[in-house]
Amino acid sequence: MSARTDAAGRPTPGPPPAAPPAPPAAPPAAPATPPAVPAVNGRCTGCGACLLTCPEHAIRPRGGALFVRADLCTGCLECVEVCPADAIDEAPGEHP
Ligand code: SF4
Ligand code: SF4
Repeated sequence: MSARTDAAGRPTPGPPPAAPPAPPAAPPAAPATPPAVPAVNGRCTGCGACLLTCPEHAIRPRGGALFVRADLCTGCLECVEVCPADAIDEAPGEHP
């Protein structure tokens, strides 16, 4: 490999050094508050509308009733909107 020279034959410096690598991106910030997980109350008639509506399949049968898996629920509350029996509380304890 020969040294670079200018028009007058003088040696010229090589290419500039490469820029240092960019620092790694910061991890995404955690949500300030987790989504509120709704809860099925005793008015449930078992119609199944919420099961078919939940985009996360977070509503599951257990022991003859339905419960919401908090690890799957995103808090979209579509289940609350679709329930014809007002049987899903936006937040547990909303209805006595
Ligand atoms: S939509 Fe309401 S009444 Fe129907 S299964 Fe779900 S919680 Fe029960
Ligand atoms: S709030 Fe949304 S994600 Fe959570 S159980 Fe209801 S429909 Fe499913």
